[in-house]
Amino acid sequence: MLAIQNGKFIVPNEAGDFIIRQEGVLLCERENIKGFVAEGEIPENTEVIDAQGNYVAPGFLNVHIHGCAGADTMDGTEEALARMARLQAQTGVTGFLPTTMTCRWHEVEDALATVMEAMESQPMGARVLGAHMEGPFISPAKKGAQAEENIRQADYKMVKPWEKVVKIITLAPEELPDYDFVDKCHAAGITVSIGHTAADYDTAVSAVKEHGIHHFTHVYNAMTGFSHRAPGVVGAAFDTDANCEIIADNVHSHPAAQRLLYHAKGGKNIVLITDSLRACGLGDGPSELGGQEVFVKGELATLKDGTIAGSVATMNRCVKIFWENTGAELPQIIEMVTKTPAQELALYEEVGSLESGKRADIVIFDEEVRVHKTVIGGKVYYHG
Ligand SMILES: [Zn+2]
Repeated sequence: MLAIQNGKFIVPNEAGDFIIRQEGVLLCERENIKGFVAEGEIPENTEVIDAQGNYVAPGFLNVHIHGCAGADTMDGTEEALARMARLQAQTGVTGFLPTTMTCRWHEVEDALATVMEAMESQPMGARVLGAHMEGPFISPAKKGAQAEENIRQADYKMVKPWEKVVKIITLAPEELPDYDFVDKCHAAGITVSIGHTAADYDTAVSAVKEHGIHHFTHVYNAMTGFSHRAPGVVGAAFDTDANCEIIADNVHSHPAAQRLLYHAKGGKNIVLITDSLRACGLGDGPSELGGQEVFVKGELATLKDGTIAGSVATMNRCVKIFWENTGAELPQIIEMVTKTPAQELALYEEVGSLESGKRADIVIFDEEVRVHKTVIGGKVYYHG
């Protein structure tokens, strides 16, 4: 048994909204959360963690991450995913979707095969929950740091063998011949996400309201912007209840843009992501993304031509930045990295909140959102 005491526990209230609970001790039995007990009721032979007044939250989920710690999903090796899993756990993440790039299709397939193996073997650290396929079914006009020559027309035959591993597909709806591809993804339980898209407002809203797409990839980045007569994909993201990813690193989105998203969405349906690349966690210098050269300086990672090429942000840092920029209550921010992505992936029965029966994936952090401890499956994995 494992007990965590003296914490500010971030838990759901009766309505399911996250709040802070200060009383009681959180008990975990084997891999799962058992529930709260009073101070005097800790069973004997229990390993007790004193949270020292810090926050105790469900482990974070990162649904969009290419790489970190010198490794990238497209390396296609289990060692790369293991390195990512270890660094993710140090930043409070207990589950993630390694994210593929618009590379040659056989390279994407190699990466997906490796993610599938990792889902079974589960390296030490954050759990590999499946893959996010960013491209190749995107718009050349909004390719961002994705390689144009590898962009393809959506064809479900390509995805079919990977139904068990692919959890999210980012695509440009205006490039689809019809919505048959999307219907098939939904039938297989794959989340389709609007991103790297030059669609107009009407196309994006219809994709959400008429075709059930419920996710936008890194809102603001690589999509048509907002203008008063042409609200664009950004306007559609604001004006629907679909989940909106945002890279809250102050590089990919200005603090005011983060605040505007927060207000437009009423604080709901927001998912913080890192979209980080292999340079994350390594400091300044040259790096690589999808076969292209990248240079990192501070918080900025760019291609040769100056295009921003993914981030070097960590999830705990994104939580801190979005918290600061929006002035929202912390439990509401924590929903954006736990409950909301867990619901999106249909995993909320299993992870995403500190409730009995769920996996004991837990992060303890302070006011600066510095990670003190990460518990994965009931075992302390990382001490900060
Ligand atoms: Zn990405």
